[in-house]
Amino acid sequence: MTQFDEARISKAILGAYHGKLAEHIVSDVIIVGAGPSGLVAAADLAAKGLKVVILEKRLTPGGGVWGGAMAMNEVVIQEEAMPILRELNVRTRNVEDGLYTADSIELAAALILKAVQAGAVILNMTTVEDLCIHDGTVRGVVINRTFGTTPLPIDPLTLMADAVIDGTGHETMLIEMLKRRGLLEGLPVADRLGDGPMNAVEGEKFVVDRVSEVYPGLWVCGMAVCATFGGPRMGPIFGGMLLSGRRVASLIAKA
Ligand SMILES: Cc1cc2nc3c(=O)[nH]c(=O)nc-3n(C[C@H](O)[C@H](O)[C@H](O)COP(=O)(O)OP(=O)(O)OC[C@H]3O[C@@H](n4cnc5c(N)ncnc54)[C@H](O)[C@@H]3O)c2cc1C
Repeated sequence: MTQFDEARISKAILGAYHGKLAEHIVSDVIIVGAGPSGLVAAADLAAKGLKVVILEKRLTPGGGVWGGAMAMNEVVIQEEAMPILRELNVRTRNVEDGLYTADSIELAAALILKAVQAGAVILNMTTVEDLCIHDGTVRGVVINRTFGTTPLPIDPLTLMADAVIDGTGHETMLIEMLKRRGLLEGLPVADRLGDGPMNAVEGEKFVVDRVSEVYPGLWVCGMAVCATFGGPRMGPIFGGMLLSGRRVASLIAKA
């Protein structure tokens, strides 16, 4: 029987976690938000050999992909995104021409596994609370542990990277931080951040087409694209989210 006690268990966790954190004080790409778009971007960038860390404030990565519509755990995927589902080995059902359903739990689990096995590191329970900007370029993010209860004032850590992605979904946290400080004036972002009314057809296209570097060093993907540029929401069809993550990875790799 392996010899262990509580002290050895604690030491093993501290050593392994702090090793992971120290290794990612400087990364090539920081992705904020482990939603479906951020997870696809992470898997693609890590597969290209880049050092990628995903910061997720919740305990569970996956963002909104676990739920489907009204928490019915099936999502809809359109033909264009099916290559990603096949790469993930996620089972799908063809419901009608070009439209498929998938079990959202299977999809969420597969997206997380793919990103981690490609080499990306996910630090969950880690909230990004600010950006680090040098000479007009985003150079990193300011993080803290996500504490569920008392908002004690605790000084944060800073992680640095060549590129930062806002994949925080409807919250659009990073863009919001720049906007609040007037740093986006003159740039083509919406006057009031936030997605527009439901239009699944337009929204699915918008979330891919408008992926971009919003501010030097800061990119946006997923639902945050619609919130940044005033695009429509699209509900529980997820092909656009996956393709949005793939697009941001491809643009960053080129850049
Ligand atoms: C928890 C949750 C549940 C949802 N449930 C449904 C649903 O049941 N039906 C439906 O149609 N739509 C739902 N949505 C919305 C829909 O799923 C999203 O629009 C879609 O998942 C967008 O994908 P995304 O990749 O842009 O990121 P999202 O899936 O929105 O994920 C964004 C991630 O960013 C994280 N995050 C946000 N701010 C920070 C920060 N400061 N630091 C670190 N991490 C941060 C969030 O915790 C989240 O995991 C939900 C969204 C969320 C976040």
